[in-house]
Amino acid sequence: MVYMKVAVIGGGAAGFFSAICVKENYPDADVTIFEKSNKLLSKVKISGGGRCNVTNGCTSISALSKAYPRGGKKLKKAFKEFNTVHTMRWFESRGVPLMTQDDGCVFPVSQDSQSIIDCFLSHAEKYNIKILKRTPVVGIKNLNDRIELELGKDSGVKMIFDKVIVATGGSPKLSGIDWLQRMGHKIETPVPSLFTFNMPDENVTELMGVVVEETITEIQSTKYISDGPLLITHWGMSGPSILKLSAFAARDLHDMDYTFKVRVNWINEKNNNVILEKLESFKKSHPKKKISNLKPSVIPNRLWTYLLHKKEIDPEKLWEDAGKKVMNKLVTVLSNDVYDVKGKTTFKEEFVTCGGVSLDSIDFNTMESRVCKNLYFAGEVLDIDAITGGYNFQGAWTTAYIAGRLQ
Ligand SMILES: Cc1cc2nc3c(=O)[nH]c(=O)nc-3n(C[C@H](O)[C@H](O)[C@H](O)COP(=O)(O)OP(=O)(O)OC[C@H]3O[C@@H](n4cnc5c(N)ncnc54)[C@H](O)[C@@H]3O)c2cc1C
Repeated sequence: MVYMKVAVIGGGAAGFFSAICVKENYPDADVTIFEKSNKLLSKVKISGGGRCNVTNGCTSISALSKAYPRGGKKLKKAFKEFNTVHTMRWFESRGVPLMTQDDGCVFPVSQDSQSIIDCFLSHAEKYNIKILKRTPVVGIKNLNDRIELELGKDSGVKMIFDKVIVATGGSPKLSGIDWLQRMGHKIETPVPSLFTFNMPDENVTELMGVVVEETITEIQSTKYISDGPLLITHWGMSGPSILKLSAFAARDLHDMDYTFKVRVNWINEKNNNVILEKLESFKKSHPKKKISNLKPSVIPNRLWTYLLHKKEIDPEKLWEDAGKKVMNKLVTVLSNDVYDVKGKTTFKEEFVTCGGVSLDSIDFNTMESRVCKNLYFAGEVLDIDAITGGYNFQGAWTTAYIAGRLQ
């Protein structure tokens, strides 16, 4: 029997998951969740378009860790203890059946994030976890073997705990985590991740709604490269290929003030000779067809017309009349089509935060702070974030699982 007083700061995904883990590890612990707002699990509710993409079907730890532009290396070891397979088992054994989509994203069979919320709330009730809403933690003091929290609700109220788990989520502003910095934790400056690209000076936006399934996208003059579907929007470009690019380049794009050039390869083929051969074969087999009528099959018609216009190629021209210059223009526009990006757009709020409490300040075997004994961290408050696909929640579950062992 281990009696201890445990505080969990934050009533979000990582907060609930870690609080439940604590009670399953230490049934006699007295656990309280402090939530600053009047809502619990609000991000879970809106996640995945209201369906909650709770994890990903990826079972290779090495592939899984590559989905994290920040934190992947450290998570690799942690995933051996709690990974996507464990997550699925965890929810299914607690009454939430899950299904995996063809793209690997895992959702509740109910297709409703409320199933995840109900699971957390019912387990919190079953384990007598106290939940205090509208109770922000505004201060924290290391009393060596115990920790004092200052609560903002009735200012001046202080409570002492044996163990504290910080699960306050991503903070787009440094001011949201300065109290952790003051304790001596290293902070990686928070900047947004997972955003779409604004192209106010590009008329490609006239093609809004066009989706190209397999593209390669690159930030010009950088190492950042991505692939996958691309969606043209009325403000610029979006879709998994762009979101992934925004995640890996998040910090550099912030430093560039979101003004840069993106190169698009529309046909997912890096070798220009291969593209040229393909075009030459069109020319040979259909010499009398108009260029506008015969195109690489993956390119939507509207985009093909746009690209011909962009390169000033007469759409009425027959393939047999396409000389070397035209062929080269086509290869270039298919493989290296450059657009000016000026600004970013985020969906509702920032999807996730790049930055937060540095992993240098954490012992990743336990998630305990290196500067304050008995203080643990879980979730997006840490400098961990991922691309879309259920990986961000997986990061929260894994860190919360380890933190919940309170070792
Ligand atoms: C629109 C949207 C959709 C998303 N969809 C998905 C998805 O489908 N799949 C996926 O994997 N990820 C998704 N994400 C990302 C995912 O929601 C987050 O990574 C995840 O919620 C992080 O969990 P967390 O518990 O660390 O933080 P949060 O869920 O943000 O919870 C932190 C909680 O702490 C509280 N808090 C903060 N400071 C204090 C304080 N000082 N005192 C008390 N309480 C405090 C906050 O009010 C909040 O309730 C989505 C994000 C957004 C914005």
